[in-house]
Amino acid sequence: MDDIFKRALSGQSLFSNRDALSSDYIPVRLPFRENQIIGIGEILSPILHGSRPSNLLLYGKTGSGKTAVARYVLRRLKGAAAEQGIDVNICYVNTRFAGTEYRVLSNLAEALNLKIPFTGLSAGEAFARVESAVDASKSNVVMILDEIDFLVSNYGDDIVYELTRVNERLNPSRVSIIGISNDLRFKELLDPRCLSSLSEEEMVFSPYTANELKTILAERAAAAFYRGAVDEAAIGLCAALAGSEHGDARRAVDLLRVSGEVAERETAPRVEEKHVRAAVQRIERDRMVEAIRSLPLHAKLVLLSVLTNGVSASTGEIYQRYAKQCRRIATEPLTQRRISGLLAELDLLGLVSANLVSQGRYGRTKKISSLTPIDTCKEILSEDSTLGSLLT
Ligand code: ADP
Ligand code: MG
Repeated sequence: MDDIFKRALSGQSLFSNRDALSSDYIPVRLPFRENQIIGIGEILSPILHGSRPSNLLLYGKTGSGKTAVARYVLRRLKGAAAEQGIDVNICYVNTRFAGTEYRVLSNLAEALNLKIPFTGLSAGEAFARVESAVDASKSNVVMILDEIDFLVSNYGDDIVYELTRVNERLNPSRVSIIGISNDLRFKELLDPRCLSSLSEEEMVFSPYTANELKTILAERAAAAFYRGAVDEAAIGLCAALAGSEHGDARRAVDLLRVSGEVAERETAPRVEEKHVRAAVQRIERDRMVEAIRSLPLHAKLVLLSVLTNGVSASTGEIYQRYAKQCRRIATEPLTQRRISGLLAELDLLGLVSANLVSQGRYGRTKKISSLTPIDTCKEILSEDSTLGSLLT
């Protein structure tokens, strides 16, 4: 009854706590990850009696719970340390969000209460400051480098290597590193010396099964929605759809959140399967918009050349149109070979489709057609001021 009244009072809302479906929310329980939680807890526990924990490498596909589990354990560790009056230093950085090597270092420094200027230092100087902050802390410092594969594939493994070496120079401070990677082939990117120190311990997170996703989602739904506001079938459908590629809990949670938003906009009394289906389309559309928006100029021009035609055209025809568009905006066209490459990329992004069409005795030819609604596509392309004159 309470839920029904609260819901009535809050207008048409289905959500009792929308934050419980946001990406940085850490649930109170993480089902199916008990072993990993205990395992990481055991690896880190030496810090509670003043010893250096081993380095640790966690890897598994996106949405397998790596970030959530790591943050969960760290929160518990901090709590346990605080109870004992022990000072632990834990630095968490997502290297993809940080974006650059320099920002990774400045985030680490910040977590150690040291401000580093936004720019102006060399990476070497920034590193030296982090090291002296660790030294000054006279403690065991745990550094979590989340999405470490981003850092290493864009900037190489210098920082990681240097971090694994600082212990040779420090006393009594010690650094332990937890690297988290979404890319299973990450280890191949590391120099063997770097790999062997980073992976003193390793842990693999396997994708969730559709049934596991269902349990996870049911718990998240209970935390985020009023009771009775989500059909069980809708939860099952979210889990099945998110589990269809690899058991990605992030996709499942996102889908449930968007389904809730769709149902709410319709002022529906509860989230049903039809809202999940509509949510899939909305997510797909948002993904497409984002993909188009972030295309480089020439890829946008190629996409526009595919669009202006309506029916499918050959690569040669598209190239002609593309070259004409380039002339109209006084831009030098790329070669036809480069354009074939860009078409293949647009195909991979699901924005165009390239089909081989039989032409009788003349053999087969590639026909390209657009997979995106023309109006939406033009609308997004017109945000690019360089293309404006081609679209009016
Ligand atoms: P990864 O870091 O492996 O890509 P995350 O830890 O970010 O995955 O998990 C993605 C989403 O799924 C987050 O919203 C997280 O809270 C949720 N999640 C993952 N595993 C579980 C679990 N076992 N129970 C509840 N929620 C989970
Ligand atoms: Mg993650």
